[in-house]
Amino acid sequence: MDSKDKFEFSSSPSLEELRQMQGKFCSDRKWEQFHTPRNLLLALVGEVGEVSELFQWKSEDCRDGLPDWSEEEKTHLGEELSDVLIYLVRLADKCKVDLPTAVLRKLAINNNKYPVEKARGSSKKYTEYVNGNEDLNQHTKSSSPDTNGSL
Ligand SMILES: [Mg+2]
Repeated sequence: MDSKDKFEFSSSPSLEELRQMQGKFCSDRKWEQFHTPRNLLLALVGEVGEVSELFQWKSEDCRDGLPDWSEEEKTHLGEELSDVLIYLVRLADKCKVDLPTAVLRKLAINNNKYPVEKARGSSKKYTEYVNGNEDLNQHTKSSSPDTNGSL
């Protein structure tokens, strides 16, 4: 990877800091009453839809870093992705799910589901590795769209 392509997130805020910041934002406005898990889930899905709108009608050739997008479009994308994260953190908070612990556990599960020796370069769903039938179901990326999307 070229050094100009290097990308990483800032080190802060942590998910716990986000949880606290959003909690204060909501309690200051007395929005606790509206933030049931159900309402937060629906809001989260709505925000995912807003992210989808930004990609709708764009070229199929959507490359890393979105070089064909304007700075304004990228800023808008950052805002909508933030809305998704904010609602996700708030939903986890209201459901008392320790998101950092849960995500580490899920990554470990995924690591077991998709062992490198079987998953490397393959878009097959993990269920196709079970019973050794991976050679019976040759899939291309386009024929198994749920792989890597429904871990
Ligand atoms: Mg939004």
